[in-house]
Amino acid sequence: MELACLDLEGVLIPEIWIAFAEKTGIEALKATTRDIPDYDVLMKQRLRLLDEHGYGLPAIQEVIGELDPLDGAAEFLDWLRLRFQVVILSDTFYEFAMPLMAKLGHPALLCHKLEVAEDGRIVNYHLRQRDPKRQAVRAFQLMNYRVIAAGDSYNDTTMLGQAEAGILFHAPDNVIREFPQFPSVDTFPALKEQFVKLSERDLQV
Ligand SMILES: [Mg+2]
Repeated sequence: MELACLDLEGVLIPEIWIAFAEKTGIEALKATTRDIPDYDVLMKQRLRLLDEHGYGLPAIQEVIGELDPLDGAAEFLDWLRLRFQVVILSDTFYEFAMPLMAKLGHPALLCHKLEVAEDGRIVNYHLRQRDPKRQAVRAFQLMNYRVIAAGDSYNDTTMLGQAEAGILFHAPDNVIREFPQFPSVDTFPALKEQFVKLSERDLQV
């Protein structure tokens, strides 16, 4: 039994915080873990900035709802779901991802959760578990699934390493250089070819 695990941001949809920062003009929201390595400090800053600019969850969801999946992503996902059971493993939050997941046909998504006050203010966030992508792959393997995973960044590399086969997709040069053990591709047709090649079944593109 084979399962496909996909990262979400940078693979199927744009980076949500960056796209949101561009839509709203809040430059400081473009900071990532590269600028502020401590994720908790980064998230607290993001939530404070949303507060300062008066963005509660409904307003954020409205902006996110205007975003679209990456070109070719929906077609790729349909293709993949005909050949694999697919689970999206993401470090985003359900409340942010949902407007975009509707445009992808609501695939299964495992990610994190926000704590939202009655007035819509985001007061806190809750991570599902530590090293969540790798732990999810491990759990699927305990259920006798063979996992092929694809992702674009550092937060995917433990997932790719845990999976029976891992693929870098849309990855920046530094990640490709640091993780030469994973094949790296940049287009959806090439990603399809990788899934076909790494499967133990006789699949066709
Ligand atoms: Mg990503």
